[in-house]
This record gives sequence, C-alpha cells and structure tokens, in this order.
Amino acid sequence: MREGTIAEIGSGRAPHADHWVNQPNCVAMPGLVNAHDHMYQWATRGFVPDGTLFEWLRALYPVWSRIDADILRIAARAAMAKLLLSGCTLSTDHHYVFPHGRGGLVDALVQSARELGLRFHPCRGSMSLGESAGGLPPDSVVENEEDILADTEATIRRFHDPNPGSMCRVVVAPCSPFSVTPQLMRDSAELARKHGVRLHTHLAETLDEETFCVEKFGKRPYELMEDLGWTGDDVWYAHGIHLSTAEIGRIAEMKTGIAHCPSSNMRLGAGACRVEDLVRAGARVGLGVDGAASNEDANLAMEAHQALLLARVRHASPRALDARTAWRLATKGGAECLGRDDCGVLEVGKCADIACFGVDDLAHAGIKDLLAGLALAPPARAQCVIVNGRVVVREGRLLTADEEQIAREIAATSARLAG
Ligand SMILES: [Zn+2]
Repeated sequence: MREGTIAEIGSGRAPHADHWVNQPNCVAMPGLVNAHDHMYQWATRGFVPDGTLFEWLRALYPVWSRIDADILRIAARAAMAKLLLSGCTLSTDHHYVFPHGRGGLVDALVQSARELGLRFHPCRGSMSLGESAGGLPPDSVVENEEDILADTEATIRRFHDPNPGSMCRVVVAPCSPFSVTPQLMRDSAELARKHGVRLHTHLAETLDEETFCVEKFGKRPYELMEDLGWTGDDVWYAHGIHLSTAEIGRIAEMKTGIAHCPSSNMRLGAGACRVEDLVRAGARVGLGVDGAASNEDANLAMEAHQALLLARVRHASPRALDARTAWRLATKGGAECLGRDDCGVLEVGKCADIACFGVDDLAHAGIKDLLAGLALAPPARAQCVIVNGRVVVREGRLLTADEEQIAREIAATSARLAG
C-alpha cells in the first residue's frame, strides 16, 4: 500500500516496505461497505421490540426529537466502532432528524468518522411532511423546506470531496415518501445533480408505505420515484422489498441501486427483498445494517450471513444466493450503490481498504470452503482492518478509540434519552 492505495498484490517474497502487517491464517477481503444506516439510532436500541415500521416510528419520533450533537457523537462513535470491528471500511449514514435549534449534527458525524478512521458518506436527510399535512412524523420533528435545501447545499460545500480516494462524500437524502413532500423530492434531486452528488431515500420497505402512496399520491412507491426524477445511476434506495417484477426490471435498466438490509427487515417483519431477482436482473445491490433501533447491532459481515440465509428461505432453495455473491453484495455491490469505483475490490490502484478474518480459531478451523464458511456461520470480529492504508483494528481490537469508554458513554446517553 502506498498513500492510501494498493500498490502491489502477489504471493512469494514480500516487497520492500517501511511498515509490515503480518496476518497469517486469515482471509483478506476488500473492506466491507455499509450502504444504509442511521447511526443516531444506536442511542435508542431495544425500543418497541415487536412493532411494525409505522408503530415503531410513531413511538420513536418523540424520543429522537431530543437528540443533539453530543448524543449524536456518542451514538455515531458506537455505531462506527461496531462497523469497523465487523470489517466495514466504507459506510454511509442517513441522518434525517434535525430538531429545531440544534446545530452541528453533520459535523459531529464527520468528526467521529475522522477520529475512528472510517471512510464516510454522510447523507443530509430531511423530513418536511408533518402529521398536520398528512405525513407520518409529528410536526415537531419536521423542517421547513427552504431551510433543508439551504443547509444541504452548505453541507455539500463544506464536506464533499469528489476526488478519487475521498474519505468524505455528501449525499442528498429526503427520508421517505411518507415524511417529505413530492416538491422536496424534486428540489433535492435538482440540487444534488447541480453539485454532482448522489441521491438516497427509503423505498418500498413495507406494505403500509405502498398503501400510503396509493392513497395519497395515486401511485405505487416506485412509480412515484419515476415521476419525481428519482431514478438513474446516481440514485440508490434502501430496502426495495415490495417491488413488482416490472419494477425490478426498470431499476436494473436505470442502474439505480438497492441497499438490502436483511436484519432490519426481519426485525420489523417488513418482508424479504427479492435480492436474487434483482441480482439476476443486473441491478446494483449492496447491503446495509440500517439503524441500530431496528437491528440492535451494526455488523456488516452479519448482514452477508443474513442475506444469504434469508434469500434461501424466501425462495425455498439453497441455490437462491451463494456465499461469493453475498460477499460481493457486501463489498463491490455496496461500493456501486455509493458511486465508488475505487472501493470494494482488492486491485492495484484501488483504495487500500482491507478486512482480514481469522480462520484458525475454534469457530472456523478446518472449514473446507473458507468463503462459504465465513458467510454461513455467524461472523466473528475481523482480526485486522485497514482503511486508506491505516490499520484501525488489530487482533480484533479497535486502535482508534476505547471500546469500553464508548460502551459507558452510550449506556449513560441511552438511559438519559429513555428517561
Ligand atoms: Zn433506514
């Protein structure tokens, strides 16, 4: 590795180098990519454990309306630490809760990613359709649309780095069809395209959302996206569960991405994404942990495991998805969703983002097919994780922050929010 990129790959004698990382008995993979998350939710895990998406959201919005930059920083550090320990080196974060008068939220996220050493794509999310206007969130957590657009543009100007090897790229991301107006979706797409940044939103997550869209807009969620200009290779959606075969074909044709979040979908009983149909149609598909309020974890390797098993259950066939495809979704597929052709593969000239998983411990020793074994068994911590050429995890321990301190801070913060 040289200056954050992979300089050489090979076997035999090691080349001359100033620093060495010796990781015997490991499988080295491209760093895993997290294509959907809400890191603030680490502070509200375990709420409404048996609710549907809409029940869970209605109960949590008032709690989330109390977050500020300090709470967000503590939650994000916990989420990022868990992601890095699972072998994730590039993550997005879809942040859409901006309570009135609380500044510094995106700053807290970007600063945390810098400190922990994670390659980061923060989404400036938004909610503008409050309950009084027929939306799902209470009016207290929605923002004025002019303010949203102005702050989103300021966020792009401040943090977005479009260059190859970038450690931070900003995304424009209204939350969902049931929490923003069609006009904000249109204006957001125009703003993103003016600045050459990507677009992200939730889509086709539940049948409740489908009913909402048909009743309020007279269209299915994906039809609404087509009408609003929200398709194309600069767009990726979270979930994409309730899609027709024709819609899957259109998504593949338009090169729009889908972030499949199996643990969250199972936790909320939202349904199962037709991931194997999307892959076969040629769509860009990545994996996401989704927020920890609907996952209780942030383990990208676990999502590869869950995606593999869920696809086989949904299809009632062990051939629905294989381990190599699951790891591809967790790496290159996610990088494609995030618009990174310099990440997600181990090749000379690409970003030096590498995850090493040990295979000589009790859990893995003797497994015949190592890649299948790592996906079929519940994943262990990554042994060593390198981001942009920097070692951030060694011997399964985070080097860039104190895990125990993060755990103490998040316990205190979660208790304060719950109270
Ligand atoms: Zn989400």
